[in-house]
Amino acid sequence: MEKNLNSLTINGSLSSKALFIDRDGTINVDCPYCHKPTDLKIYDDSITMMREYDARGFDIVIVTNQSGIGRGYFTEDEMDGFNSALKEKLTMHGIHIKAIYYCPHLPEAGCNCRKPGTGLVERAARELDLDLKQSIIIGDRDDIEGEMARKLGMNYVIINRSKLPIGGNKS
Ligand SMILES: [Mg+2]
Ligand SMILES: [Zn+2]
Repeated sequence: MEKNLNSLTINGSLSSKALFIDRDGTINVDCPYCHKPTDLKIYDDSITMMREYDARGFDIVIVTNQSGIGRGYFTEDEMDGFNSALKEKLTMHGIHIKAIYYCPHLPEAGCNCRKPGTGLVERAARELDLDLKQSIIIGDRDDIEGEMARKLGMNYVIINRSKLPIGGNKS
């Protein structure tokens, strides 16, 4: 209620703000074409981030490229199974995912929803009545989520997951 009154005062609308967060490599450890619930490993810092944004009144919306579907590596049902396992674990940490938007297409399909295309975020904004100016994008790839955010003129944060221990670990 208070949130709505605040956005009404500031924007003259009832739109809410969102954290648009990438899935593979940002929330969970990336593995090639992750789709088995047994492969699900969640980064602790992604839980911390989502909790902080949730506490500040952001809806949490996952936006993810899943070309493994277009490539025939897994089905949409299998992806849903992985996503359910993910949502179940996040729920145990008190995190509610508002929605998951995904692109199932091949890169060469030329769709507008494969990130860094802006289609997923634009569709979510339309369907969920989100104010992109108040929202933020978080991902692990500057050439994907960073590029998408720049196209949209949105705030964003890129997390570096490639840090190696001091001295490097080549094993
Ligand atoms: Mg990623
Ligand atoms: Zn697409």
